[in-house]
Amino acid sequence: MADTIFTKIINKEIPASIVYETDTVLAFKDINPKAPVHILIIPKLNIDRIQNFDTINHPDLLAHLVEAAQKIATDFNLAESGYRLVINNGDNGGQEVNHLHIHLLGGRKMTWPPG
Ligand code: 5GP
Repeated sequence: MADTIFTKIINKEIPASIVYETDTVLAFKDINPKAPVHILIIPKLNIDRIQNFDTINHPDLLAHLVEAAQKIATDFNLAESGYRLVINNGDNGGQEVNHLHIHLLGGRKMTWPPG
């Protein structure tokens, strides 16, 4: 997999507002937030998109990403009010950075359907 800007954030080569970090997961504030709370949750492993996620070889990693989302939502007082998790995949999915990431959006009422 080709490195992306997120590899540089993982390696602390460029700054990011990090809100959560473990051996396998990193989460940081989106540089162009679409909601009062907009956090990106990523695996440190370089996986380009959810379509290519190898659940056989990395059975725990998706659980770690979900666990991160739950903890961050609690930390940002979103657990009761609600929030949205989004994974964009590929061109039609609106993915711009080819390193798997979950958007955690909260702090306002989300609309449906998304654009
Ligand atoms: P995608 O469209 O790929 O699902 O989402 C990529 C997200 O990464 C966008 O919301 C964009 O604002 C965010 N982003 C892109 N470059 C950077 C960066 O250098 N730092 C941070 N914190 N977020 C970034």
